[in-house]
Amino acid sequence: MSAVIERSLGQSPVTDLKNVGAKMAEKLAKLSIHSVQDLLFHLPLRYLDRTRVAPIGTLQSNVHCVIEGEVTLSDVIVGRRRSLAVRIQDGTGTITLRFYHFNAAQKNILKIGARIRCFGEARRGSNGLELYHPEYQVVDASKPFKKEETLTPIYPSTDGLTQVRWRQLMDQVIALLKQGRAIDDLIPTQFLVPYQLPDLTSALLYLHLPPASANLYELEEYQHPAQKRLIMEELLAHHLSLLKMRQEIKTDPAPIFAGSKALLPQLLGQLPFSPTNAQQRVNEDVQQDMLSGHPMLRLVQGDVGSGKTLVAAMAALSALEQGFQVAMMAPTEILAEQHLKNFQDWFEPLGISIAWLAGKVKGKARAASLNAISQGEAQFIVGTHALFQDDVDFQKLGLVIIDEQHRFGVHQRLALKEKGKSLSPHQLIMTATPIPRTLAMSAYADLDTSVIDELPPGRTPVNTVVIDQIRRQEIMQRIHNACQQGSQAYWVCTLIEESEALEAQAAEVTAEELKVALPGITIGLVHGRLKPKEKSDIMAAFKAGDIQLLVATTVIEVGVDVPNASLMVIENPERLGLAQLHQLRGRVGRGTAKSHCVLLYKTPLSKQGKRRLQAMRDTTDGFKIAEIDLEIRGPGEVLGTRQTGLMQMRIGDLARDGYLLPDIKEWALQCSQQLPHITEPLIRRWLGENLRYGQV
Ligand code: ADP
Ligand code: MG
Repeated sequence: MSAVIERSLGQSPVTDLKNVGAKMAEKLAKLSIHSVQDLLFHLPLRYLDRTRVAPIGTLQSNVHCVIEGEVTLSDVIVGRRRSLAVRIQDGTGTITLRFYHFNAAQKNILKIGARIRCFGEARRGSNGLELYHPEYQVVDASKPFKKEETLTPIYPSTDGLTQVRWRQLMDQVIALLKQGRAIDDLIPTQFLVPYQLPDLTSALLYLHLPPASANLYELEEYQHPAQKRLIMEELLAHHLSLLKMRQEIKTDPAPIFAGSKALLPQLLGQLPFSPTNAQQRVNEDVQQDMLSGHPMLRLVQGDVGSGKTLVAAMAALSALEQGFQVAMMAPTEILAEQHLKNFQDWFEPLGISIAWLAGKVKGKARAASLNAISQGEAQFIVGTHALFQDDVDFQKLGLVIIDEQHRFGVHQRLALKEKGKSLSPHQLIMTATPIPRTLAMSAYADLDTSVIDELPPGRTPVNTVVIDQIRRQEIMQRIHNACQQGSQAYWVCTLIEESEALEAQAAEVTAEELKVALPGITIGLVHGRLKPKEKSDIMAAFKAGDIQLLVATTVIEVGVDVPNASLMVIENPERLGLAQLHQLRGRVGRGTAKSHCVLLYKTPLSKQGKRRLQAMRDTTDGFKIAEIDLEIRGPGEVLGTRQTGLMQMRIGDLARDGYLLPDIKEWALQCSQQLPHITEPLIRRWLGENLRYGQV
């Protein structure tokens, strides 16, 4: 124990605490908790208020509460499941306690007339509010109920660590902190003052032991300055880690590609169009990067239909011409197959051999692909993330192209580095989700960005109309007429995103309905529940014109290219975010015909819903839409897709705290200029061993 007194909490291993042995230390290590200080950064998930007795009449469902009252009814109910139901009242209201497991002694204690106090979570049952298996005790004037002095924190836990155990651990650590034991407060005061944020010790004490007067709502919404203090620190740590990752990749040697002299002119010669100015400008950025001797880390943002594939092709040819392999990864098999076909058309005439690798490629075909890749016979390799599994060995990988980057985590992308052997491959990442500039700079701190800000000529903007569901029949009739005149159309069913099964079901029902309503029209159905082969067969049939009307769920959102499709109906568009609607709508307007998008909404529309649909009607510019999205929903939501798989945060949440990013970027800049020594400890504190810098 004497050791505890000398060292700072950051240097004390958890075993310095009472009752913490090797076994306990092992459990804590699983949560990346090694030092006593790490325990302090293990923050409560939520809090319970056991500091006051609540009037029963004021209770709401899903809230933890302490109540006190008299038993007015105590019955064993023999329903589907036998239970003991005990009704208590306190003069302001009544509530039922329900026990599915109970014994005679319990029944006896909870008898009519008894005065009891209980603690539990109120839930809405069939007969009003109920408490399931609450803790309870008979009120006994001689033995006062032990009320808590502070809100009760609930800690995220792991197997075999109870809340009681956490409490014991934290009590010890907090006692040490209160005795004035040092912790490493890495954030300088001058950062905190303008935001009126507390120092680290005060913030941690507050969050581990919020006073009874603390506002539970504020804490649960992460709006308290003590939380903001830690959120900003964590965001800063993540931001610095992105910069660090970038720096580490950027110091690797990479092959130098001096641009394609032979292949590129051939490709351009065989295309029916020439690159737009925007495509050319972005291509120059890319070619410049590949000359530097260090890996390119470039994000190309381009609205749907802006022609990102051609930019990718131009980059690829530079690598191919120098005898390097190029891997192109798409997030789904549908998209990967579409790229495969496209690049077969474009590259095979140039004598470039193309290989295909996806999850569904198995057995002999897979072995053949793997062999061609490792022998260098395959030059341009298209696939899904299957491309980057361990057994895929590239002979000479020079460039990795990732389409629709937002579906990939940073870790997956960084794992690519290992595939390049002595030279690290260049990385070109393409996304159709436009991110407003201010946000992009902070959220994509690890990447350089270029924007394709112009659509190829000859596109007529999609005409969008917003129509009430009441006119559904009329819309069906319009689709009928259009299909009979040779157009193709999408009918998109949207449902609660979480349930692919329900969404598929809704699409099935709609497809049946449309088949009845539109005789003589061939109707196909595609949804997330189909096997990849079934999906791609249907997409191929649609592309070939054999299907006139494609009923789909949001699986068709990204990248699908069928130029002849010029009509889209989106049901319940009010359920989707602007970015997603924009992506969906981008499936039409790819050919020369005038295209239409019908947003078939259900009343009543919320104010935000109205604004969103209006924005869709008024503009087709993805960046404008992103700005509006930013205004309506805030940066967290706009960045949400990037967040998933990117960062596992402890207290921060980009979807909630994204508005802080510009400030964080400012802090990071100051750190690099004035406080370089805090970078390492900050990253270690918040990201621990989650990032394997050595390997990524
Ligand atoms: P996205 O940026 O959405 O991936 P694509 O690369 O799929 O867009 O291009 C959309 C369509 O535009 C494709 O059919 C493609 O052949 C065509 N296209 C690309 N560049 C041009 C151009 N410069 N001029 C005319 N059409 C182009
Ligand atoms: Mg694309």
